[in-house]
Amino acid sequence: MASDSRTEVKLMEAVPVPPLNLAAQFAAIRAELLDELQAVAESGYYVLGPKVAAFEEALARYCGVKHALGLSSGTDGLLVALMALGIGPGDEVIVPAFTFFATAGTVVRVGARPVFCDVAPQTFNIDVAQAERRITARTKAIIPVHLYGQLADMPALLAVAARHNVPVIEDAAQAVGATLPDGRMAGALGRMGVLSFYPTKNLGAMGDAGALLTNDDDLLELARKLRVHGSGHTYYHDRVGGNFRIDALQAAILTIKLKHLDRWTAQRRRRAARYTELINAAGLAPEHVRPPQEIHGRHVYHQYVLRVDRRDELMAFLQQRRIGAGVYYPLPLHLQTCFAGLGHKAGDFPHAEKAAADVIGLPIYPELTDDQQDAVVGALTAFYRR
Ligand SMILES: *Cc1c(COP(=O)(O)O)cnc(C)c1O
Repeated sequence: MASDSRTEVKLMEAVPVPPLNLAAQFAAIRAELLDELQAVAESGYYVLGPKVAAFEEALARYCGVKHALGLSSGTDGLLVALMALGIGPGDEVIVPAFTFFATAGTVVRVGARPVFCDVAPQTFNIDVAQAERRITARTKAIIPVHLYGQLADMPALLAVAARHNVPVIEDAAQAVGATLPDGRMAGALGRMGVLSFYPTKNLGAMGDAGALLTNDDDLLELARKLRVHGSGHTYYHDRVGGNFRIDALQAAILTIKLKHLDRWTAQRRRRAARYTELINAAGLAPEHVRPPQEIHGRHVYHQYVLRVDRRDELMAFLQQRRIGAGVYYPLPLHLQTCFAGLGHKAGDFPHAEKAAADVIGLPIYPELTDDQQDAVVGALTAFYRR
C-alpha cells in the first residue's frame, strides 16, 4: 500500500497544471462566440455602438447597478473615475499598500498623491480603521480593492466614508460577481466601481477591456464624455478626456461570457473548497500553509491564495513540477521604486509586507480538473514532507 501511494504521488506530479486554460474556456463556448465575432465583423461597427450598449445594459443588470460604461481597460476605468471626481494636484487618495499597481498608479497619473494604508491580515483588504485615521482635509477619495475576489469590509468602509463625506471608488477588477452577505455586488457599493475584463480575470475579454459602474446619473454622463476625449458632440470638447473606448468585439464576447459567469464562479468556489479539503486532509494546515478565509460574503476566487512557510523555495519547487502557481504580489506598493518620492520605508505597513513575503496563488479556474488539483496538493505535500 505504502509503495502504491508513493507511485500515485509520482504520477500525479507528472500532471502539468498551467496557470490558466483560456483555450479550454473558448472551446466550451466556441460556436456561440464565433457567431458573435462574425456578426460584429459583418456589421462594420467596430468601436462602441449597439454591441457595447447591449453589453452595458446586461452588465448593469447583472451587477445590480443603474449604469455600466464599457471602457478600454480596468486601469482606464480607475483613471476615468478619478477624472470624473475632478481629482488632481494637491489631492490625496487613500489606497491599500498591497494590491495590483494600477490602483495607485492611476492616482499619480491624475497628479494626486496616493496615501497608502495597511491591509487586514485575514483578507488582504484595506484596514478600515487605519484608512479612517489617514483621512485629511485633502482626501478626495478612498479606493478599496476587493483583492483575489473577496469584498473588502464595505459596510465599515462606507460608514467611514459617509462620516467624512469622502467618495469611495471600488477597485473591483478581481471581484466581478462577489457579493456581501445581503447579496449586493462588488462594484455597486461605492460612488463608482471599476471592473477589468483582462483575459485572465473571472470575466475575460479577448484583449483589454473594462467597465465603470455607478448609480449616479451625472457621473455616468461625465464619464461617458471622458471616454471620448471629453466630447459630448463630436469635435466639441467640454473637458479633456482620453480615448477610453471599448471595442464592439470585446463587448460582444463579454455579453456571451456574462451568461456563463455564475456557473464559472460556482466552479471556482467548488475548486477552492476542494483545495482546502485536500490541504487539510494532507495535514498541511495550519502548520505549513494557511488557506484563504471567506469572511465578507461570497468570495469569487479570482485567486486561491495561501500563506505559506518558505514561500520562495516552494514557488521554485512548484515551477520545477510545471505547476503554474503565482505570487500576487511580491513587493508592496509603498516599497516600489517609482513611489520612492513618497518617503516610505520597510516597516511602514507590516501586514502588507508580510503578505508580500508569504502569499502564493495556486492555479484556479473553472476548467481545472480533479487530477490537476491532486497534483498541486501532492506537490505541496511532497515539499513540506521532504
Ligand atoms: C487587473 C487589475 C487592474 C487593472 O485592470 P486592467 O484591465 O488590466 O487595466 C486594476 N486593479 C486590480 C486590483 C487588478 O487586478
